[in-house]
Parts: sequence; C-alpha cells; structure tokens
Amino acid sequence: MNMLESAEALIRRSAKKLGWSDADVEELLTPEQVHEFEVTVGDITHQAYRVQHSNKRGPYKGGIRFHPHVDIDEVRALATLMSIKCAAVNIPLGGGKGGVAFDPREYDEEHVEEVARQYVRALQEHIGPDKDVPAPDVNTNSQVMDWMVDEYEVLTGDSTKSSFTGKGLDNGGSEGRDMATGRGGMIALREYCKANNIDTNGLTVAVQGVGNVGFYFAKLAQKELGVKVIAAANSKVTKYNQDGLDFSSLEFSRKVMDELTGEERPSNEIIQVDADVLVFAALGEVIDAENQSDIHACVALELANGPIDDDALQQLEARDVRVIPDVIANAGGVIVSYLEWQQNRAGEHWSEETVNTKLDEILGKAVHEAEKRAKKDEVPMKEAAFSLALERLV
Ligand code: GLU
Repeated sequence: MNMLESAEALIRRSAKKLGWSDADVEELLTPEQVHEFEVTVGDITHQAYRVQHSNKRGPYKGGIRFHPHVDIDEVRALATLMSIKCAAVNIPLGGGKGGVAFDPREYDEEHVEEVARQYVRALQEHIGPDKDVPAPDVNTNSQVMDWMVDEYEVLTGDSTKSSFTGKGLDNGGSEGRDMATGRGGMIALREYCKANNIDTNGLTVAVQGVGNVGFYFAKLAQKELGVKVIAAANSKVTKYNQDGLDFSSLEFSRKVMDELTGEERPSNEIIQVDADVLVFAALGEVIDAENQSDIHACVALELANGPIDDDALQQLEARDVRVIPDVIANAGGVIVSYLEWQQNRAGEHWSEETVNTKLDEILGKAVHEAEKRAKKDEVPMKEAAFSLALERLV
C-alpha cells in the first residue's frame, strides 16, 4: 500500500465509525487545490507540486521537499496528512505540501537557490501569511526558506516574513525550530510511556535515520529520558552497540554516523534490532505487510511521515506492537512552525524556553487525548488520532 492509499484507508475507516456519509468522506479526500508546474534552471527542468488539501481550520500549512521520488500521489498523501496532523494536535492551521522532483545534492548552491526562487514565483498568488505558509521538509532547510521568503518579499512587498516558517534565526526564524521535530518525538515517547506506566530509564531504542530529526530525537531522549540508543542507521549502515551509542557530546552534521562507536551491520537490519522502541526517522513507506514481522520492538515511533503502511499498522497492533503515529509523533516541527508564525505576526521573538514550554504543552496534550481515545474506542492510537482530527475538520 502506498502512502496515499494508507492515509485514505485510515480516513475511510475512522469516518465510517464516526457515521460520516460517503459524500463527506469523498469531500475530505479531495484536495481543495492542486498546483503542478515546472521550474527550469538553464536547460534543466524539474517537475514541481503544491497540494493545498484543506484550509477549513486555518491557512494551508506544510513543508516543501526536494527529492527525486517526489510525485503527485506522494504530495497529495502528505498534504492530507498535514490537515490531519494540525487537527490532531489542535493547532488552527490547515494542510498542504509541496515538492520538487530533484536531488539537490547533485547540483550546486546557485541551482538550488534558483529552484527555490522559481518555486515561489510560480506560486506567488497562492501563498501568503493567511493563505498558505510553507516550511522545510526532506532535503530543505532554513537556507531554502530564507531564499523563498526573500523572493516572496521582493515580489509582494510583504516584510512580515510570516509567509514561510523554518527560516534562519536572523531572518524571523524561531528558537528551537531546528530541534523541534526530534524534541517533539521525545515528548511523544515520554508522554506515551507516562500514560502506560512505562519507565523510560534504560529503555532500549533503535533509530532508523540520523538526519536532523533522528539525531535530535536520539540526543534528547538519551539526555532527558535516560533511554539507551543501542542502534542507529542511515541509508548505508547500521551501527550497533549493546551498551548504548553515545550522542551526548555530538553536534549534528551529515557525518555524524562516522562519529558513533559500534559494530557495523547492513543498513536495513535496523528494523530487526531487539530494542524496546523502534524509531522511524528516515523516509516514508518502509514497513508493509511483508516485513512487519521483522519488527521485534514493542513500540514503533513514526517520526517520518508515513513509514508504516495501513496493513502493517493493523498487523503490528494485532500482535501488541504499539504505534505512536506520525500525525502526533512528528508534529513538533509544525507546532514550532505555528509558534514561529505567531511570533512573526506579533513582531516578537520568544526565548527557546518559552517555545519549548509551549511545544511541550500542545504535544503532551495531544498524546494524552489520542491515547485516551484509543483506549475508549479500543482502536490503534493512529486511528484514534485520525478520529479526533476528523471531528475537528468537519
Ligand atoms: N515538514 C514538516 C512536517 O511534515 C513541518 C511542516 C511545517 O512546519 O509546516 O510536518
């Protein structure tokens, strides 16, 4: 099942239990606006997308990814998930997503900057502080957002910088935004454990993906929850150390895997590691009905968008592997984006402590609401989060 099929299956299942009509379900599954266009730099053309799924609860909100696998189905699924995510954590924003189908690592900086600026030129009239507020996603970062917000300002004269989030700190960005998704994952795991009387001290954890999200999750979970990260993997290798990989003195870089000391195993063995918690912090579509049986962990934390498909979700839950769903577990990024947008609009700059406290409150509440609903309805936490979101989206 691809990510779009999984998201739609979950929506249909939750909606049916809520007594929605077929027409209401179809309306929710249909994005409000779909933009497909090309960006051309020199003689190279890339396909680009922005899907604006729903603005019923506030401006469209969601990242822009630069990745060769980006296609319309993926962007549609991710836009739908953003509407669900913002509603599940109860922030007043809608859902959107964008992407450009290319690998930025194969081009020089001028090329990537030109892609970013052209993307904004093409979408100018459809984005803006009250219309659609894009952010970083896979392979995009504060530098890309800075180019985009600059281009938007040149085109429209809007100098509030509130048309994009995830910007650099000296350009209207928020304290804490870089670490936000990883921190949110740590909070989600902490609150899930609290709700289920699980002591996090000494809990063993394996992390797939040590980009920004997986790295900060590992570092913060080790420091603040006392977990032992026994394995971490990137796309090339798994590093395994039963005594725990030490993230405490490391700073994030693309080479961070080289600095971890542990036995080397093939990259895809990470999902079989005998840890209490398995964290998916790489890309989507990793676990399906076929390989879900390789998972030995008791808890799976979805920090990427859509790593576990809907068939696998049901099979995992049936054998008591609990999934802490992406729409809550990775919502730290969009929650701090929301706080950044609020700061820009008010012309304020909050301290990191203020930002982190607000993030903790919003995400902690969402975890407990979804857990409570899951127990009441006797459904997986993911389905409970979708039900809560659907009720808020009507
Ligand atoms: N790309 C992140 C996500 O998938 C953040 C989106 C945002 O901040 O708008 O949730």
